[in-house]
Amino acid sequence: MCVTGGCLCGAIRFEGDAEPQFQVTCYCTDCRRTSGAGHAAMMGFIDGAIHVTRGAREFASKADSGNDIVRAFCPTCGSGIYSRTAGMPHLIFLRASALDDPALFAPQLAVWADRAPAWDAVPAPLPKRRSAINRGSAQWR
Ligand SMILES: [Zn+2]
Ligand SMILES: [Zn+2]
Repeated sequence: MCVTGGCLCGAIRFEGDAEPQFQVTCYCTDCRRTSGAGHAAMMGFIDGAIHVTRGAREFASKADSGNDIVRAFCPTCGSGIYSRTAGMPHLIFLRASALDDPALFAPQLAVWADRAPAWDAVPAPLPKRRSAINRGSAQWR
């Protein structure tokens, strides 16, 4: 698929022609805090398949899974753009919220689903996982 998107002010853009490796919503506390909602929505692509404008600010932290994770956002408008996790170093996760066409996102799984707040419940048809996804997650291999 052709994927384009960017931040609110337009300073950071991304584009690529690639198929998402997987698509998830994440209800972990850190994703909630950075999302502006109850969860983050992310599309994982092979790193290198997506071109991202330089200049995004990166914030590194330790995920609940124990993996190092970097979340990138626009330093001007604050929009979340992408993240990378040491658990899956071959992927870049684009924030579905930054897509030009949000209909491209088709979530397959909700992770940390038991942390979903009542006001942002996981949609019933979506498979739920109680913790993080990882390199070792059989479902993705
Ligand atoms: Zn911006
Ligand atoms: Zn998360």
